[in-house]
Amino acid sequence: MLKEAKGLILVLSAPAGAGKTTLCKRLLQTSPTFISSVSFTTRSPRKQEIEGVDYYFVSREDFEKLIKKNAFVEWAEVHGHLYGTSKKFLEENIKAGKDVILEVDVKGGTKIKEKYPQAILIFILPPSWQELEKRLHKRATEDEKSIKERLSTAKQEIKYLPYYDYFLVNDDINATTKRLLLIIEAERYKINRVPEKEINRVIKNI
Ligand code: 5GP
Repeated sequence: MLKEAKGLILVLSAPAGAGKTTLCKRLLQTSPTFISSVSFTTRSPRKQEIEGVDYYFVSREDFEKLIKKNAFVEWAEVHGHLYGTSKKFLEENIKAGKDVILEVDVKGGTKIKEKYPQAILIFILPPSWQELEKRLHKRATEDEKSIKERLSTAKQEIKYLPYYDYFLVNDDINATTKRLLLIIEAERYKINRVPEKEINRVIKNI
């Protein structure tokens, strides 16, 4: 655990189509302290995805080299592709006081919590399975087989809910963003996040 770290580690996990990426974009718009971690993946870019913005797209061979170099905080295989969180990016940014948002799958989320117990794990749920299926069809970034696969993965992922600190049902994006900001605001006031010097200063001034 990085005791001197100032920024928050915010882990957002959700079944595909629950609205995690939109929520992350909303957070980034609310304050310049938020920064989104750019993961490495062996998946091919989708239309409109940008290298270095959405992901670093690498070959499986290069990804394996990065694993050997210990470049990842965690990595996991999701839907047949490898995804990994950069250790350098995360540690440099929290040290600099940035609140780092990590959009990772449930296995990644629990691994991050093991390494950084101060990480805040938030699970985003869709209002219903029917709604999730509807959103995946509307998104049209996957074919029918991938949609089926993502729905069945979602049912497995829900099992990790007890390992998370918070859950939010994304029934309305504005309301969910507000709830997420409330969680983050409350987390900033946790005694164990406030430096001792600051607590002493406050006590002295009472
Ligand atoms: P997609 O291919 O739809 O962008 O992402 C598929 C899944 O991989 C999502 O659940 C996403 O959160 C997860 N993912 C993205 N980056 C990482 C990462 O660095 N580590 C892990 N464990 N999962 C990730």
